[in-house]
Amino acid sequence: MAEVVVIGAGVAGIQAALDLADHDVHVHLVEREPTIGGHMAQLDKTFPTNDCSMCILSPKMVEVARHPNITIHTCTEVESVAGEVGHFQVRLKKHPRFIDEEECNGCGDCIQICPVEVYNRFDAGIGVRKAIYKPHPQAIPDIVIKDNEHCIECGLCYDVCGRDAVLREDHEKEIDLSAASIVVATGYRTFDARNKPQLRYLAVPDVITSLEFERMINASGPTGGRIGRLSNGGTPRAIAFVQCVGSRDMSLHRPYCSGVCCMYAMKNAMLVREKYPDTDVIIFYNDIRAYGKGYEEYYERAKGMGIRFIRGLPGEVMEENECLVMVAENTETGEVERHHVDLVVLSVGLEPADGADAIAERLGIPRGENGFYSVDDEKIGPVLTPRPGIYVAGTATAPRDIPDSVAMGEAAAMRAYIDAIRAN
Ligand code: SF4
Ligand code: SF4
Repeated sequence: MAEVVVIGAGVAGIQAALDLADHDVHVHLVEREPTIGGHMAQLDKTFPTNDCSMCILSPKMVEVARHPNITIHTCTEVESVAGEVGHFQVRLKKHPRFIDEEECNGCGDCIQICPVEVYNRFDAGIGVRKAIYKPHPQAIPDIVIKDNEHCIECGLCYDVCGRDAVLREDHEKEIDLSAASIVVATGYRTFDARNKPQLRYLAVPDVITSLEFERMINASGPTGGRIGRLSNGGTPRAIAFVQCVGSRDMSLHRPYCSGVCCMYAMKNAMLVREKYPDTDVIIFYNDIRAYGKGYEEYYERAKGMGIRFIRGLPGEVMEENECLVMVAENTETGEVERHHVDLVVLSVGLEPADGADAIAERLGIPRGENGFYSVDDEKIGPVLTPRPGIYVAGTATAPRDIPDSVAMGEAAAMRAYIDAIRAN
C-alpha cells in the first residue's frame, strides 16, 4: 500500500489524513503534541454558526484513531527528509512519553493521585494540570503523558497504576518511513501579547487573550464556562474586545491581517450577550473584515444583539478604581472616548507555528516574508510548494479560518494521492 506522511494533526492535517486513508493510502500522521486536534480543540464555538467546536472535531479525531490506514505518531517531530517525489525517506524523532502506550487505558487514576499542579498550556494558563496528565478529556490517543520536568518522583502514580503503564525510564526513538508524498499542515501560534506592553497583558490580571477567553467560556474548560475576572472572581459588567493585536501593525513589522480575529471576537461577544445579557460588550476595531460566506450576516446579527462596535483602537489599557480604562479615538465621530470595563480580551493575531523555520529547512521548502510557508501560486496552486511531492495546507501557509483550512487539507490530500498512485 502506498504511504504518505502528514505533518501536523490540526483540522487541516486530520482532513488530509482521512481523505488519503479513505482512498487506500496508508497515512503516517505526525504530531509533536501528545494529542491530535490542534488549536480547534481549544475553541469553544465556531463562527458563523456558533456550533460547538469539539462537536465537529472530536468525531473526526475518533475516526482517525479507528482508521486502519492511519498510524498516529504523537510527541513526534520530523528530523529529516531525503529523496524525491514518489520515494521520500522520512526520519521521525519520537520524544519520550514515560508511559507504555500499549498498556495505558487512560483511566486517569494516576492523574487523581499526582500531587503536582502546573501551568496548563491547553487551557491557555487558566487553571492547572497535574505532572501526569491528559491534555484534555477527548485527547487522541486517549492516554496520559508524564511531564518529567515537573514530576517530583513521589512514586504515587507508579503504585496506583494497575497496568504498570507509568515508566521510570523512556528514551527518544527514531522511526524511519518511506513516503510517496508529504503534506505539511503545521498550523500557527498566536501572537505573544506581551510584545505590546501598553496593553498590559500579564501585568494586569483582567487583561486576557482571546484564546484564554475561549477556554474560560467553554463549559468543559477550567471555569466550567463561567466568565469571571481573574483579579477578584467577579462577573464583569463590561467587557472590551481589542482587535488587531499583533496584526496590521507596522510598528511590530506585522503588516498582514490575521483574517479570523474580527469573526472570533464577534462570536465571543455574542456568547457573552447570550449568557450575560446585562453585560456591556464593546469591540474596538480597525475595520471589520467579514469576508466569508454568511459572515456579513453574522456581523449584522452581532450588532442586533447590542454589541457596541467602536472604530478606533485604544492606545493603552489603564487602571482606575479596580476598573480598566480604555481611551480611544472613535474615528467615525472624531471624539476621544473613555470607557470603563472589567475585563479586556485581546484579539491576538496568528503567526507561523514554533519550529516552522526548522521544518522548512528540513523539507527544503520556502517561507514568505511573514514566515508562513510559501506556495507556487496563491491563485492556481495554493497547496503546491516548489519541491515536487510536498504540499502545504491550512494556517501553515497564512492565517485562515476552519472551512478554508479543511478545504486546503482536502486539496493537499488529492495532490498527495496522485503521487502515491503514480509511485505504486
Ligand atoms: Fe490509568 Fe495507568 Fe494510564 Fe494512568 S498510566 S491513565 S493509572 S492506565
Ligand atoms: Fe506525579 Fe511524578 Fe508523583 Fe507520578 S511520580 S504522581 S507524575 S509527581
